[in-house]
Amino acid sequence: MEAKKEAGCPRCAIGDHGRAPRADGLKHEITSPRPTVEQLMAWDFDGICEATDGCRVEPDGRCPHGHTSWLRLVGIV
Ligand SMILES: [Zn+2]
Ligand SMILES: [Zn+2]
Repeated sequence: MEAKKEAGCPRCAIGDHGRAPRADGLKHEITSPRPTVEQLMAWDFDGICEATDGCRVEPDGRCPHGHTSWLRLVGIV
């Protein structure tokens, strides 16, 4: 089996860091490893979180690239 190189987020790749749905359906895709429950709890406790592309964001925020925080994604905040 061929190892696939990390392609990154397709929407960020074209320079679109917006949040609104696109006519072509291109979405931000998760590019950072999914955090464990323990990691999510630690972020919640610290008041800082990672977005789905690995940026540091507010627990209920989004990064400048349009990626949402993990805590928000999983519905903790
Ligand atoms: Zn993106
Ligand atoms: Zn980002």
